[in-house]
Amino acid sequence: MLVALLVAALRLPSAAAEDLTGSRVQVTFEAEAGDSDAGRQRTCEGQVLVEALDGGLLVEEDDGQLQLIPAARRGEVQRLPEEAMPTPAEVGRKLLADLPAGFQLLTTRHYCICFDTSREYASWVGAVFERLRSGFATYFRRDGLELTAPPRPLVVVIFADRRRYLEHAEPTLGTASSNVIGYYNLMSNRVTTYDLTGSDLLRGRMGGRQSVGQAIASSPAAAALVATLVHEATHQLAFNTGLHQRLAPIPVWLSEGVAMYFETPDLRATSGWRGIGMVNQQRLARWRESHRRELLARILVDDEVFRDPATALDAYAEAWGLAFFLLKTRRKESADYLARLGRRGPVSDDSPQQRLADFEAAFGGDVESLEPALVRFLSQLR
Ligand SMILES: [Zn+2]
Repeated sequence: MLVALLVAALRLPSAAAEDLTGSRVQVTFEAEAGDSDAGRQRTCEGQVLVEALDGGLLVEEDDGQLQLIPAARRGEVQRLPEEAMPTPAEVGRKLLADLPAGFQLLTTRHYCICFDTSREYASWVGAVFERLRSGFATYFRRDGLELTAPPRPLVVVIFADRRRYLEHAEPTLGTASSNVIGYYNLMSNRVTTYDLTGSDLLRGRMGGRQSVGQAIASSPAAAALVATLVHEATHQLAFNTGLHQRLAPIPVWLSEGVAMYFETPDLRATSGWRGIGMVNQQRLARWRESHRRELLARILVDDEVFRDPATALDAYAEAWGLAFFLLKTRRKESADYLARLGRRGPVSDDSPQQRLADFEAAFGGDVESLEPALVRFLSQLR
């Protein structure tokens, strides 16, 4: 994974007296080879999260984008006075300047939505995401995990149609984007998607007097699309409310398990979504077919099983099963585990031993010792 390689460059924190970590700065740096403006000077403003021993910087910009600036491309650095966070409207203006012409802005309480489709569709997405955000915070508070309010508006970009979305997404996702209706990017901190009512599955259903919610609710195919959208929005929330920190070594099974726990759609609701922690029928069916004790043990320590197409779907089902079992039956322990990992900052240490130790410290035993109870619990689900 690209991020992992970049992060490796920051592994050695600075010991310099002039350490910039925590400061607000303006940095000039050279654009990366391969970018459209390769070789030219760029500037960014934001907070330094990490300064590496060699002078490389990890900067969080005011709109939430992360910039990784290797020492070799770092130019002049100026310290800036601490300032209040930008408002959604200020973030929006900067975003619109970066997007292709034709985008408009819709701000909700916590989101800044840039769209070039109908305002009605953007409002529908805003309403679903706001409901998700409040459900997400309430859910974890119940178990004593106080999440923080996102420090800045969360950015969502909605393209009018799939073709425009793919053109924009391809440099980031590669060919994988053609299977994906939306994604959360850890570096840009944005969810990018397209208007699902224009997707092939839903084409022809819109029109007449139907609202966006009704059109989506009346299509069985929409369930999977809405689930994907909510899944990506859950990742964004998890990384912006302190559940996980960006670029921290969060095991993939955990971040994916949490996202799958929240993604369950309920199409009886015209919102297209209201389910937190309902049985995820698709994942359960896959789990029944593919559960293996060795795979369960492996997902804890090996993120590669999620990236290898030969094992990915089974690994996701296993991760859903483990997260579902723990969040339903070991609530206090799960909150403890999440809090423990939530304290890990960007680029902190990660190893299989560390992951096993974290798990055992929270759950009082290794995952194999929990497996019989997990199998009993998941097998009786309907
Ligand atoms: Zn995911």
